[in-house]
Amino acid sequence: MTGREKLDAEEQKKRMYYAQNCECYFCHKPLRYSQAEFAHCIPNTKCYIKKYGAEIIHNKKNGRITCHGCNHKALLDPKTNPVPATELVAEIENDLGV
Ligand SMILES: [Zn+2]
Repeated sequence: MTGREKLDAEEQKKRMYYAQNCECYFCHKPLRYSQAEFAHCIPNTKCYIKKYGAEIIHNKKNGRITCHGCNHKALLDPKTNPVPATELVAEIENDLGV
């Protein structure tokens, strides 16, 4: 990630955090911003970034704001959940106008 991309990712996380009323997406526990995590659905790995592109992986629809304990609940690994993962990618591509 470049400095600019990091800044954009932070900006996006902040917007999502406030849009989610400053609470965890899954357990609705109130979160301080410093505790909030951007949990990726399709994992943020080199392999998936290569396959789908960084725009998909870091897209807001590929993530949830969670507490640390719920981070894993966002996981939608294409290896184990190919159908919903493919649908999610198609939806994001549609948004991006790919
Ligand atoms: Zn939680």
